[in-house]
Amino acid sequence: MSNKLQLPRRKFLLLSGMVSMVGMGWIISDDPTLEAAESANHLPAGMIPLTYSPGYNITLFGLEKLHPFDGRKFSKIRHHLLRSGVRTKEHFLAPQAITGEQLLVVHTKSYLESLRESLNVAHILELQSLMYVPSQLIDWRILQPMRLASGGTLLTCRMALKRGIAINIGGGFHHAEKDNGGGFCVYCDVPIAINILRNEGLINKALIIDTDAHQGNGFSNATRNDPGIFVVDLFDETIYPYPKVEETWSVPFPAETKGSTYLHKLAEVLPKAIEQFKPDLIIHNAGSDVLASDPLSTFRLAVEDVNERDIYVVALARKLNIPVAMVLAGGYSNQSAEAHAKSIEGIIKRFETKA
Ligand SMILES: [Zn+2]
Repeated sequence: MSNKLQLPRRKFLLLSGMVSMVGMGWIISDDPTLEAAESANHLPAGMIPLTYSPGYNITLFGLEKLHPFDGRKFSKIRHHLLRSGVRTKEHFLAPQAITGEQLLVVHTKSYLESLRESLNVAHILELQSLMYVPSQLIDWRILQPMRLASGGTLLTCRMALKRGIAINIGGGFHHAEKDNGGGFCVYCDVPIAINILRNEGLINKALIIDTDAHQGNGFSNATRNDPGIFVVDLFDETIYPYPKVEETWSVPFPAETKGSTYLHKLAEVLPKAIEQFKPDLIIHNAGSDVLASDPLSTFRLAVEDVNERDIYVVALARKLNIPVAMVLAGGYSNQSAEAHAKSIEGIIKRFETKA
């Protein structure tokens, strides 16, 4: 992905003044994510936990619109789910933001400190104009939502271990490496969650099935030489990142791959990977940028193909009695929210049991 659009410098000077008035600090929250998992006890038995916070949505006085990413996609998915009647407002789990200490499970201290510089974050977010925006403002309006979504991934993995299936309506930042960010990804949420759960003795081995259209170079970087994490990655070989990196199991596709070819390949590789690795937890990085309508990939999947993919992964995991957590990763077309919402609705209708 790349985006070279620029905003007038005057607009950024105005924003500098605004942040002085707001006076926000950039200190990382220390709220324990475990508390949120405990609070999930109010969910009815048999209900699939959906993790979401209004704080996931990214808005920065219109600047976020310079990137193809829809910063309000998460609220649109929640709205779809409310409208379809599969959820009411009280049945979403609110996560706590991932803490600075938890980020250090994967990231280097020097990388986290580098995020105090607007220029560095501007590169990661592919919005060069952000270099003129005060770092406190960027932290408040962009990085904090990403820490919240990363806390959501951890909470979702915890809930998957408790209930078999759980879904984060956000997260999946698979381009974030240990000491570098990129492709709109700052925090390497899935490997962070896996490492925390492993340190707590809750799991030994986790498998990441990454079906976002782009190769997950960040997840690969953060899990390389780790015998406890297996990555199966299906991606478009003709798009970002360049060059492609080495992974446990790469499944590259040529340009303009159709849904039937893609789904056939997924059904061929995933059961083999699970059989070979025998994970305690499966995490599906379920990007919707495989849609034919997506501007950032050449895949040719329909909404129905994405739904079939997402339900297939959950069905396979449940058949094998392995907990499965789903996070949403990338998706930049106007069908993205609809595709995710229909997948989640399909998973709820098929796998949720009434109390
Ligand atoms: Zn992607």
